Amino acid sequence: MTFQSLGLIEVLLKAVRLQGYETPSPIQQKAIPPILEGLDVLASAQTGTGKTAGFTLPMLQILAKNPVPHRRPVRALVLTPTRELADQVYTNVKHYSKFLDLRAAVIFGGVNQNPQIKHLRNGVDILVATPGRLIDLENQGHLSLSKVEIFVLDEADRMLDMGFKRDIDKIRSLIPSRRQNLMFSATFSREIKSLAQTILLRPTLVEATPENTTVEAIKQEVYRVAKEKKTNLLIKLIKDGQWKQVLVFTRTKHGANNLCKKLESARISAMAIHGNKSQGARTKALAGFKNHDVRVLVATDIAARGLDIPLLPHVVNYELPNIPEDYVHRIGRTGRAGANGVALSLVCAEETSYLTSIEKLTKQRFKKEIVEGFEPDPNASTVPPKQGGGRQRRGARPSNKRQGSAGGGGNRSNNYRRR
Ligand code: AMP
Repeated sequence: MTFQSLGLIEVLLKAVRLQGYETPSPIQQKAIPPILEGLDVLASAQTGTGKTAGFTLPMLQILAKNPVPHRRPVRALVLTPTRELADQVYTNVKHYSKFLDLRAAVIFGGVNQNPQIKHLRNGVDILVATPGRLIDLENQGHLSLSKVEIFVLDEADRMLDMGFKRDIDKIRSLIPSRRQNLMFSATFSREIKSLAQTILLRPTLVEATPENTTVEAIKQEVYRVAKEKKTNLLIKLIKDGQWKQVLVFTRTKHGANNLCKKLESARISAMAIHGNKSQGARTKALAGFKNHDVRVLVATDIAARGLDIPLLPHVVNYELPNIPEDYVHRIGRTGRAGANGVALSLVCAEETSYLTSIEKLTKQRFKKEIVEGFEPDPNASTVPPKQGGGRQRRGARPSNKRQGSAGGGGNRSNNYRRR
């Protein structure tokens, strides 16, 4: 299978070659042809599968085939849940459109809006955006979405987790009802299926990995350990294994900060990346991690979504997620692009029920290991921790002032074609 056989035009093939890709990934093989045919696509794919190129390449081809309209209205809109992901999708768009006469822009909150407005003023064909800033700028009259032909929802499951349902409905009311829709999601919950019904029209279903199972290339290990011994066990694992780059997940922002401090005191360079950090601090942490100045990146689930960190050898669940699907997302950070990765989970008594839920979801039973000197506490309670500081499943966003009418397309059919 080659990129050429997927029906991509030469200027895109040239851009792909420049990226050094030789063969299309499974999601690219499955998603590109139906998108080029103009069909709606519902794709199951997580970060690391090459999904961004999977929708960006055919999207660019469709846009490039039609003449650029006067004043360049937004013709393709890509919605992402986080700023980091928006930035990464934008970077991908820039790379692949290198030899095309198409303009792209990215907009997200947390930074000054003026440079974004200036960029929009010149006209853009492709807009990558997070929902809040998009609606703000539309409300202020800085952009119009009335000419959108292709609508992409990236990481739709995370959008719902972050409470963006109303924003999505609002945005749907701003774009034409006749359009091509592409929706990407790592998991397929009931909520995702019902969102898909309102957005997509007779979508083609494509899957990169079987639903809710974990990638085979990833070695998964579970260590039972007393809660108060977790930090020292992590330090031992990092030092003994001489790990150069490790992504560590905590359940809470507070936990991420605390762990960073302790790692730093053990002379292991670490930085935290979570929702309370400014955009600048997050970018700095990620850059430090990528260029190996920072050995450990400690992240919460939401912050880690969409981070483009290729070939990560180790991922550690310092705390197990209370949402089992997050485990699948987390460990998907390792074992990419054919390389083997190891995902380790440090599990204390109170996380026992989380572990059981993960085993159920991923249809596997873990062998539980114990490291001498770091034994679990047999008297510890198995009652799960309170969820106060952690992430909630839905409605994590504070109350939304904007009122969105769910229009733009009405009730769409759920008549799937499976590829
Ligand atoms: P994504 O899942 O879109 O975040 O992509 C994950 C990583 O895979 C990115 O670093 C891409 O540059 C890379 N990638 C995408 N497509 C391919 C391909 N066909 N061959 C090799 N690497 C790829």
